[in-house]
Amino acid sequence: MEDMKSKPDSYWEERLSPEQFRVTRMRGTESPFSGEYVTHKGGGVYHCVACGHPLFSSDTKFESGTGWPSFYDVIEQGSVETKVDRSHFMVRTEVVCANCGAHLGHVFDDGPDPTGQRYCINSVALKFEGGE
Ligand SMILES: [Zn+2]
Repeated sequence: MEDMKSKPDSYWEERLSPEQFRVTRMRGTESPFSGEYVTHKGGGVYHCVACGHPLFSSDTKFESGTGWPSFYDVIEQGSVETKVDRSHFMVRTEVVCANCGAHLGHVFDDGPDPTGQRYCINSVALKFEGGE
């Protein structure tokens, strides 16, 4: 299997839009309430915009009021990886795609039951595919 994590920035720059590249590779954040999936409803799967890896199910999406798509769980264990992020004078937990390392957003422990987790994810890092 191809190692997507070792691809250089130039590989992604050719394949992603400037905003997708800024968020997923430069660890940027889209403006709140600007993303196309903030209030998106409907059944299906949210994939990594960079590599297509399945990340979140619409079943765990909830309205957090923060302005970013929010999920209380990942689609399956191991679909994302987390890292300690000490940027911007805060200690947060960064969420990245387990397959390609794309920055997705952050996870906080103030989410709803049953997990208590709140995955706060940039719309631009996601690609939704409806199903069922
Ligand atoms: Zn990915």
